[in-house]
Amino acid sequence: MKAMVLEALADVKTHPTPLSLAVVPEPAIAEGEVRLRVTRCGVCHTELDEIEGRTPPARLPVILGHQVVGTLESDGLPLMAGQALRLQKGQRVGVAWIASACGHCDYCKEGLEQYCEEGNTGTYNSPDKHLGTHTFGGYSESIVVNEAFVLRVPENLDLAATAPLLCAGITTYSPLRHWNVGPGKKVGIVGIGGLGHMGVKLAKAMGAEVIVFTTSPSKVEDAKRLGADEVVLSKDEDQMSRYAGKLHFVLDAVSAKHDINAYLNLLRVDGSLALVGAPELPLPVAAFSLIPYRRSFAGSLIGGIAETQEMLDFCGKHNIVSDIEMINIQQINEAYERLLKGDVKYRFVIDMASLKK
Ligand SMILES: [Zn+2]
Ligand SMILES: [Zn+2]
Repeated sequence: MKAMVLEALADVKTHPTPLSLAVVPEPAIAEGEVRLRVTRCGVCHTELDEIEGRTPPARLPVILGHQVVGTLESDGLPLMAGQALRLQKGQRVGVAWIASACGHCDYCKEGLEQYCEEGNTGTYNSPDKHLGTHTFGGYSESIVVNEAFVLRVPENLDLAATAPLLCAGITTYSPLRHWNVGPGKKVGIVGIGGLGHMGVKLAKAMGAEVIVFTTSPSKVEDAKRLGADEVVLSKDEDQMSRYAGKLHFVLDAVSAKHDINAYLNLLRVDGSLALVGAPELPLPVAAFSLIPYRRSFAGSLIGGIAETQEMLDFCGKHNIVSDIEMINIQQINEAYERLLKGDVKYRFVIDMASLKK
């Protein structure tokens, strides 16, 4: 099969190693697995960790891609636990970050496979327990995964714009749900990028009052278009002080260095701030940003499989997809260069038909 492959890691920390097109053997299907024909695949900032060598060990060759959508190639899958529908050959399906997990630890039993005690199997570059090799992601004609980790994509959603829901969508949906965002709640979304733009759409659809915090005046109009009730320029102290102690929850989607205390101070008593962006350096927290208001400072990682399906169904019901820019697979290296500069509104998605060119 044709795939876009990371064949060797160049000794560079400053520049992503380019991916290249290759023909690789199609993985065999083990018991309980199915094959998907990949039609679209989202491009994620996290992949830069692989190609810049920050997530060792890279098991070469690496085929990236963890926002995979396509059609099911195999016939008649067994029922997924707790689901009424039986997946059919040709059905629109997706695969997110988790390709498999132990299924018997406390967290897996609670549907929290993202925190599996034995460590879940990632969609790419994870040891493959069946084949003894490693898993391959979605930058490819096809992908093989555990059938229980395949998700149904609602019929009304555009397949390409659905791909980023499998990463940015669930990463923001899970904490919004966990901290009970809904009607009567004031929610802050910090940063408008791949994650933040989904946070705004989802929090708004959940019925919350949404206040976006951004450093860029150029993003004000776009934040309103996405559904924000108010947009605050975070460098403007007067604007920030209007929301001091007012918010029930803050979702922080910024991965650059920033003053976390400025956002903790926006929380009401018992309010929580959850990080989904991942700044490289520690964020200093002042004790008195937390103590006087019994505030919580937290983090959140993607979501479990049942919750990811719940998120897709929620998006189907509310007609929510990601804002995307479609590219051909031959443009992937250029797309990473643009990602590094934050130059995308708001996620790249690869048209996998371009693999045939
Ligand atoms: Zn991702
Ligand atoms: Zn587990």
